[in-house]
Amino acid sequence: MSQAGLLDALRQIVGAAQVLSDGDLSAWEQDWRKRERGKALAVVRPGTTAQVAACVKACAAAGVSIVTQGGNTGLVCGSTPDASGRQLVLSLQRMNAVRQLDAANLTVTVEAGCILQNLQDTADQAGFLFPLSLAAEGSCTIGGNLATNAGGTQVLRYGNARDLCLGLEVVTAQGEVWNGLSGLRKDNTGYDLRDLFIGSEGTLGIITAATLKLYPQPAAQLTAWAAVPSMQHAVTLLGLAHQHLGAGLTGFEVMGQFALSLVAKNFPQLRVPLYEGSAFCVLLENSDTESESHAREQFERLLETALEQGCVSDAVVAENIAQAHQLWHIRESIPLAQAEEGLNIKHDISIAVSRIPEFVEATDAILQQALPGVRLVNFGHLGDGNLHYNVQAPAEGDAAAFLRDHEEEVNALVYDSVARFGGSISAEHGVGSLKLGKLEQHKSPVALGMMRAVKQALDPQNLMNPGRVIRV
Ligand code: FAD
Repeated sequence: MSQAGLLDALRQIVGAAQVLSDGDLSAWEQDWRKRERGKALAVVRPGTTAQVAACVKACAAAGVSIVTQGGNTGLVCGSTPDASGRQLVLSLQRMNAVRQLDAANLTVTVEAGCILQNLQDTADQAGFLFPLSLAAEGSCTIGGNLATNAGGTQVLRYGNARDLCLGLEVVTAQGEVWNGLSGLRKDNTGYDLRDLFIGSEGTLGIITAATLKLYPQPAAQLTAWAAVPSMQHAVTLLGLAHQHLGAGLTGFEVMGQFALSLVAKNFPQLRVPLYEGSAFCVLLENSDTESESHAREQFERLLETALEQGCVSDAVVAENIAQAHQLWHIRESIPLAQAEEGLNIKHDISIAVSRIPEFVEATDAILQQALPGVRLVNFGHLGDGNLHYNVQAPAEGDAAAFLRDHEEEVNALVYDSVARFGGSISAEHGVGSLKLGKLEQHKSPVALGMMRAVKQALDPQNLMNPGRVIRV
């Protein structure tokens, strides 16, 4: 089938208004970090699973590859087309319905294009909690969250997107529909197909719907902000928080002083507490099943112990929800403050929590020695052993030139250090095309061989987001 024939076939399937091939397609062609701008053959916006399946069959017949897209907030250049002009962007944006909320089963089934925040609101209105939470929640979709196995701020207690998912509906690379929306918590009937598609970043098939876990809402949620003298003290505080709060500990975020200074500089309306004079600040969240007063007592006991032991130099507990939101807003503004400051090199890494202080000290020293003046924007989900260990160009230099000349060197220094500490080069953002080469360097040949075998078995024509995650 010719490309013109394919576009005609797609118009027949989804209606002419949902096949965009002229005009400004930058919203679908440009990645969120503005690192890559591709060129799409067209953007097609199916409204049903049957339409997705028919589109995939038409593309397979024409030999045209598909880049599935949700909210296009991914950070590893995985959701936009390459520059060839021959890839189709298949946007799930219109498939955003909540299909069923089963209160007794504590599950909700939604279409893949459902915006995360809308799902949180739906759960909230029904008296439940859907705990996945990340700064892009106003525009990212459940399909994208599952395809990247997104993490966010609640992983410590509720796990990542994979842990929240009980079943999927998927359109395979052959255009067949697999309905795995069982909602079962136990199902040991062979290979776990659901887990294959979660985290596959659109390279094995298209997620069209998901059944997800709901939780009871906590009786109270309190947020505290603590200044700590070093990363080692932050890790000690994490241990104390586990002891004092148990399952109530739902968030533990660390933020380096320079990261917070960027928020203070670029968003002066956000008043950043306690960061001057302390190497790191920590944001803690306590979700209590009893009452607010119980949560507050627990927090006060924890912080008193931490002050006595010297792992906290000062701390505040939010007085009300507005203050808690403000503290979280500061944390979530770090990536945006960094973007305001200029181009930077991002690393989303994980290391065993116990080794993070040593990793940070060693890697900071290596970078400062190799590239004097580089500025380290260090923050992340310390409770999960996940750091966003980002590198900003020296203050006085040309950031674009710095990236052009040194990005590869910086990446090599950081990822070699991660490898020495037994960590992962991608904790939660995935691989996309940005980290494809790095994965090949750092994953074992045995693991890469098995990944390749899975890809070839499920997508023998290599039409599902080719050139992302694994090369065949
Ligand atoms: P897209 O960006 O559209 O796609 C991402 C990948 O998934 C692509 O490979 C795409 O092909 C594939 N895909 C999308 N939909 C489907 C589908 N239905 N079926 C199959 N494949 C599909 N991530 C975290 O883990 N934790 C964070 O704390 C976090 N914070 C973020 C903060 C900001 C400000 C931003 C911009 C991003 C952040 N992210 C974070 C990145 C995160 O991966 C995405 O925000 C989100 O999970 C992707 O959803 P999306 O709908 O935008 O997917």
